[in-house]
Amino acid sequence: MQETETFLYGAPFSEGGRARRAGGVPCRKKQFAGRFFRGCDIKRFFSIFFLLLMMISTTACGREPYTKTAVVMDTVVELQADDGEQEQAVEEGMAYLKKLDALASQNEGSDLEALRTAAGTGEWVQVSPEIYEMLAFSKDWSEKTNGAFDITTGPLVWLWGIGTEHERVPSDAEIAEARSHVGWRKLELRAEDHSARLTEAGMRVHLGAVAKGYAIDGLRKIYEKHGVKNGLVSLGGSSIYALGENPKGKKWRIGIRHPRADDPKTYLGVAPLSDAALSSSGDYERYFEQDGQRYHHIFDPATGRPAATGLEGVTVVARGEHAGELSDILTTALFVLGEEKGKALIENCGEDVTALFVQQDGTVFHLGTAESGEMPDLKGILEDVDDSVAWE
Ligand code: AMP
Ligand code: MG
Repeated sequence: MQETETFLYGAPFSEGGRARRAGGVPCRKKQFAGRFFRGCDIKRFFSIFFLLLMMISTTACGREPYTKTAVVMDTVVELQADDGEQEQAVEEGMAYLKKLDALASQNEGSDLEALRTAAGTGEWVQVSPEIYEMLAFSKDWSEKTNGAFDITTGPLVWLWGIGTEHERVPSDAEIAEARSHVGWRKLELRAEDHSARLTEAGMRVHLGAVAKGYAIDGLRKIYEKHGVKNGLVSLGGSSIYALGENPKGKKWRIGIRHPRADDPKTYLGVAPLSDAALSSSGDYERYFEQDGQRYHHIFDPATGRPAATGLEGVTVVARGEHAGELSDILTTALFVLGEEKGKALIENCGEDVTALFVQQDGTVFHLGTAESGEMPDLKGILEDVDDSVAWE
């Protein structure tokens, strides 16, 4: 007899496949909601972040989950469908992800590369419907987050090269130059023919903070089309959508990995999830260290540097048609905004969003609407934390 248990939001893939707790890194104890954590280092890792998922699936209530795992979109994808046309849903889902992966690339011949090369020429570039949808939603939220999430952050991503072979700390002049080409207002969209243009040479779009979220919304639609009412989709553990209930007839249980834990079984707590998306983001996914400083992959477009608001990680749960896209965008935006401004943003998002913040000083706190009873109780995670995290 099997049951679908917890999805562990896994460890970042470290250099050489090893993640090491450096130990001895001081962490201030700060009481918040009666909880604190001890931070620890993970050895610098390169290449893409890799999140290990562990799922124990089995049958219960007569359900036989159909699952498939593959590496797509630079991450480990796990699709599970528990009812309906399971196999078709999962197979079509995988094909869809491969298609999106190709569409969202910056390779020669891609929409994004065409946009970049046409930047500043005044030419409109017709893009695929999927890319157009992502650009339109992203532009809207670039505005709503006051540019904390900015879909035109590409020049900074490229300059710093975090997670690539050419990652480095650029000079102030280089940062200023790249930053001058960032600005969502200079991305123009034309709905009639799905066209876009960047009004200044040197601009480029980067979909890194939204593509996975967009993908899980698409997967949900594919599942619905095939009559799948219960299932789970996970893109590297950082973007997850839970449909219905697990085979036990209960809410899915999603483990949220602590940003500084090197053991994938060490997590903050478990989020109960049903018909909602969960995204996580943080300074642990892709980074390098130099002179004792961590340079990570989430940039504050206002400074041109990795965001420094005292956070290590943010997890967002959202509902609704764009739950995946929204939760993905919000993790990035909230990471850039930090606690105070983030709070204002969450409050403006309404009933459908709830977030968990992990700060560098070990504080973990929750913002959002868990009290409404409609949203998963991320706040409840805080109650479990001391028991579930096996700090030394
Ligand atoms: P996420 O892991 O969802 O926070 O996405 C991070 C990725 O989004 C980075 O690897 C960059 O490609 C891109 N990115 C970094 N900073 C920003 C930002 N402020 N706005 C939009 N995209 C960003
Ligand atoms: Mg994101």
